Amino acid sequence: MTAKKRLTQCAYCKGNTCDPSTGINEPMPPIDKAPPTCPMRKYEEVIRQGNTHYHKKNIQEFARLASVQEAQCYETEGGEIKTRIPRIEEIMQFADKCGYTMLGLAFCLGLRAEAKKITRIFESNGFDVASVCCKVGRTPKESIGITGEHKIRGSEAMEPMCNPIVQAELLNTQNVDLAILLGLCVGHDTLFIKYCNVPCTVLAVKDRVTGHNPLAAIYLSESPYYGRLQKTEKPQKPKTEWKKVDITVEK
Ligand code: SF4
Repeated sequence: MTAKKRLTQCAYCKGNTCDPSTGINEPMPPIDKAPPTCPMRKYEEVIRQGNTHYHKKNIQEFARLASVQEAQCYETEGGEIKTRIPRIEEIMQFADKCGYTMLGLAFCLGLRAEAKKITRIFESNGFDVASVCCKVGRTPKESIGITGEHKIRGSEAMEPMCNPIVQAELLNTQNVDLAILLGLCVGHDTLFIKYCNVPCTVLAVKDRVTGHNPLAAIYLSESPYYGRLQKTEKPQKPKTEWKKVDITVEK
């Protein structure tokens, strides 16, 4: 099978087979009603294996509480399902359910003001908060091979690098119960997640031009404003001349 043929394509499906909204005792639609690119048809064994992880008691409990929290983010009024709370309250309620009292906030320097407000909110709700800014360690960008032309403030500037690995290690060291990402850059967030050893979640991702709301560009992708996102010509191959980077680390 070619790499492309192995791809699952839930994004092009309505999801009627995996989420059929049947009653608890009603039969589910047969799997072959799903499109041929459905993971339930292509990767039955992966799904079976993946589900075994929930047999671990602590993982099952974490998953159970996440679903309890999910349901508590809605309410039914006059037969209508309505949303209830913003993500920051969802995080606090979930942390509380898990018995987590010490939160770690890994934030981007550009969201320092937000980090302060968020910390105050968490603290006023009874949590202890360890916060770490991305520039911690003030390690020069030169140490990872950045040269002048790739600096933001010009080649002569001393620019400390964003340091997601140290952010993660600091929160690991302080043994926080739950690490929370706030506005880390693309790639920096990847490294943070890779090196963070405690449970972690995201309060907000960085999007410099949309007030940190990346979906704004998606919502405008059929308008002249961000229509450029959806290419009309067939993509040329190869799409990249860059070498593939593997961040697997030998243990
Ligand atoms: S799991 Fe299958 S049925 Fe569900 S959205 Fe994906 S392709 Fe569709």
